[in-house]
Amino acid sequence: MSTLEIRDLHVSIETDQGTKEILRGVNLIINSGETHAIMGPNGSGKSTLAYTIAGHPRYTVDSGSITLDGADVLEMSIDERARAGLFLAMQYPVEIPGVTVSNFLRTAKTALDGEAPALRSWIKDLRGSMEALRMDTSFAERNVNEGFSGGEKKRHEIVQLELLKPKIAVLDETDSGLDVDALKIVSEGVNRVKENTGLGVLLITHYTRILRYITPDFVHVFVDGRVVEEGGPELAERLENEGYDRYLTGSTVG
Ligand code: ADP
Ligand code: MG
Ligand code: MG
Repeated sequence: MSTLEIRDLHVSIETDQGTKEILRGVNLIINSGETHAIMGPNGSGKSTLAYTIAGHPRYTVDSGSITLDGADVLEMSIDERARAGLFLAMQYPVEIPGVTVSNFLRTAKTALDGEAPALRSWIKDLRGSMEALRMDTSFAERNVNEGFSGGEKKRHEIVQLELLKPKIAVLDETDSGLDVDALKIVSEGVNRVKENTGLGVLLITHYTRILRYITPDFVHVFVDGRVVEEGGPELAERLENEGYDRYLTGSTVG
């Protein structure tokens, strides 16, 4: 049982126009086995929250805390965060030319575990995971994210989830750019990992569509750098019908 705890988190970035505060007091607690949806309009700071949890150097934590089972995440390097059990699926994953999916996954697994996985069971696990996501085995020999379609990028992330077995995963707009079939396959993958490993999930999304396939235990409405309302799955339904307008009292969030 793991707990990711975010307390009164304030985060800013440097822009050409000076320092800009983006997160303005975020509070969240995510336990193993729970799925939390963060829903908010574009520009509200959802990706900033994801990057801050992952340790992206661009984002400065001005105050507040992030802990995983009591350990100070903000003191950890990006590698240490991964070894501690945190996983970030980025909204825009980067290409890694010259590194195949197969090598990338095995290297990541070795770095996380401190030793290389036994070859035979590793190949079996990799094939099993790719099959479950309806991916051709030749995919393992392609370079990471190079020329991947939106759906392939997202499937690759679920393969990572399945093989790397993090404790808490942050999935940033995993639904974006997926057609319904791919969305179903990716969602099934997330649900399978949740069931098998007790993964805790922070599911960041603009649209409610993915929540039809991955049922959240908690929904947090995120506007202007903070959580403005919390509830259960019914809150997502309301957002689907009413949008975010009621939360945007004259602000310029677009
Ligand atoms: P969301 O994911 O909810 O769309 P983001 O976290 O991407 O929101 O962005 C929040 C705000 O911070 C936006 O106004 C965005 O323009 C700004 N922002 C985020 N990252 C950067 C950056 N690297 N440079 C300049 N502005 C940024
Ligand atoms: Mg505050
Ligand atoms: Mg975003």
